[in-house]
Amino acid sequence: MDLYNTLTKKIEHFKPLNPDVVTLYTCGPTVYDYTHLGHMRKYINDDILKRTLEYLGLKVQHVMNITDVGHLVSDKDGGEDKLEKGAKKSGKTVWEVAKFYTDFFTETMEAVNVTAPEILCKATDHIPDMLTLIKKLEEKGYTYVTKEAVYFDISKFPSYGKLSGQKLEDKIQGARDEVIVDADKKNPADFAVWFKRVGRFSDHTMHWDSPWGDGFPGWHIECSAMSMKYLGETIDIHTGGVDHIPVHHENEIAQSEAATGKEFVRYWVHSEFLQIEGRKMSKGLGNFLTIKDFEDKKIDPQSLRLLFLQTHYRQQMNFTWDAVSAAQEAYKKLQETVISLRHENSRSLLSAEKLEKVDDFKGRFMNAISTDLQMPQAVAVLFETIKSNIPAPGKLDLILEFDKVLGLRLLDSEPSRAPDAVLSLAELRQKARLVKNWKKSDELRIAIEKKGYIVEDSSGTYRLKKK
Ligand code: AMP
Ligand code: ZN
Repeated sequence: MDLYNTLTKKIEHFKPLNPDVVTLYTCGPTVYDYTHLGHMRKYINDDILKRTLEYLGLKVQHVMNITDVGHLVSDKDGGEDKLEKGAKKSGKTVWEVAKFYTDFFTETMEAVNVTAPEILCKATDHIPDMLTLIKKLEEKGYTYVTKEAVYFDISKFPSYGKLSGQKLEDKIQGARDEVIVDADKKNPADFAVWFKRVGRFSDHTMHWDSPWGDGFPGWHIECSAMSMKYLGETIDIHTGGVDHIPVHHENEIAQSEAATGKEFVRYWVHSEFLQIEGRKMSKGLGNFLTIKDFEDKKIDPQSLRLLFLQTHYRQQMNFTWDAVSAAQEAYKKLQETVISLRHENSRSLLSAEKLEKVDDFKGRFMNAISTDLQMPQAVAVLFETIKSNIPAPGKLDLILEFDKVLGLRLLDSEPSRAPDAVLSLAELRQKARLVKNWKKSDELRIAIEKKGYIVEDSSGTYRLKKK
């Protein structure tokens, strides 16, 4: 397939280093607040990339981290640790905050049908790996220590800035005007790989022993350490939002390549941002939307997926409620089509002309997804397929084939398929869960299973599946 590489600023032919498996690393969420609509768009885009690679016959080993320590309010080492701030605000411990928002993240991902990575790893579980990497950097002379922290010296890494296209001298010059928190920093653009538990961090809750004193890691080091640990020193693809290009990913490249002397990532894939009604998402503006807001309005999470698929991942997207209503309508029609096609029993053989049509649709779909993930075109092919005169079985097969990539859960399209007796048990169970009567809810789950159905919970709703 062809994929845009932020590093070369070109669409390139993608070929994994090892033909048997694609190594893919995704920067995961910082779990101090709710997963919002922008995150959903970003991780759906990554999911589409992974599904496309798999559809093209490649095996993918996907690793994603959970940032539960070290990400300061400013990406440039300023302000408090986001987790500590979240804990103070909510009166919970940092560990409770991390657990709560990690669960909310995974539930949101399940709701929008994002495939779980092969490895989901937490920063706090990988402190020894980070320390080993920092030691390696120190041995090679890339770091220096101040009273507050251990810094990576970017002047020692001449290709610093290659991802965002900033020259090292410009970066050093530009950073002069920035607020410098640690006066002993040699260059304002140097970044911390380890913070000491002193001064502004003297009451930091999460801390570990290290050769440089008690403290906690800087944000960037976790991704390099976990990517190398699980996927090797050079990986095929690393994804993130465009906001990560100038700081987080430049820093990941610098510290990884300085440590190993090898290329860290071969293809960098970045998703553009989502805006809401033309504005940045923020709590203050009251437009900070989570999966719950959609479920409360009875909007199927898959219609959000359908909506996102209609804007290319490298284009900024503006979310509007009108657009989500239209996507919801379109999604319902898709579901109805699948249901009616499934109920048609004809199994006639396809004529040569219809077979040709099937091949044409398949070819165009394949071409769209493998040309830098042109999902708007792929969705257009799906709708053309639906309108075509291909007989029911062939059409259904084709739609379900496309859905392996689109992930719209079209195969599950019969919400009322479960018998009434099962549905009413599921409703009773939902009510029991709402009042936290877990005993009753468990009994009802067993009763549902005895009737041949499995109930899956997701973000306040449930889904029934035949055993
Ligand atoms: P964070 O938890 O803030 O580190 O964000 C996790 C991922 O979501 C990062 O890759 C961000 O680039 C991405 N992201 C955050 N906000 C948005 C947004 N409004 N639109 C698209 N992606 C976003
Ligand atoms: Zn990262």
